[in-house]
Amino acid sequence: MTTDPRSQAAPGLQGARCSGCSVTVYPADDACPRCGGPAAPVALPGTGTLWTWTVQRYAPKSPPYQPPPGGFVPFALGYVELGDVRVAAVLDVDDLDDVRIGMPLSVTAGPGVPRARPTTPGEEDS
Ligand SMILES: [Zn+2]
Repeated sequence: MTTDPRSQAAPGLQGARCSGCSVTVYPADDACPRCGGPAAPVALPGTGTLWTWTVQRYAPKSPPYQPPPGGFVPFALGYVELGDVRVAAVLDVDDLDDVRIGMPLSVTAGPGVPRARPTTPGEEDS
């Protein structure tokens, strides 16, 4: 049995969709935040587009924030549209000046907040 290396390197996000009003939420929840009805797990798309963003220029409260070994550095944080839900994610970009609303992003789950990085050519179709 072969394993797609991308599936391990890029675990997808698990959301939930309400069976009553069809709202999709992230992170997954058993109950719909809109109508209180039951919600079933749903895998969210691994790619989306940047809806809006900002730059975190000072270290967040710690805990829960854990600064990297080299100390805090400003980073971009945004909302990524994944189908019919917007997910907050840290934007892993080389240059904060490259961030643009509408840019294509790949989003991966991980410890804490999801991470998003610019989509590489050809990745959009996967
Ligand atoms: Zn609902």
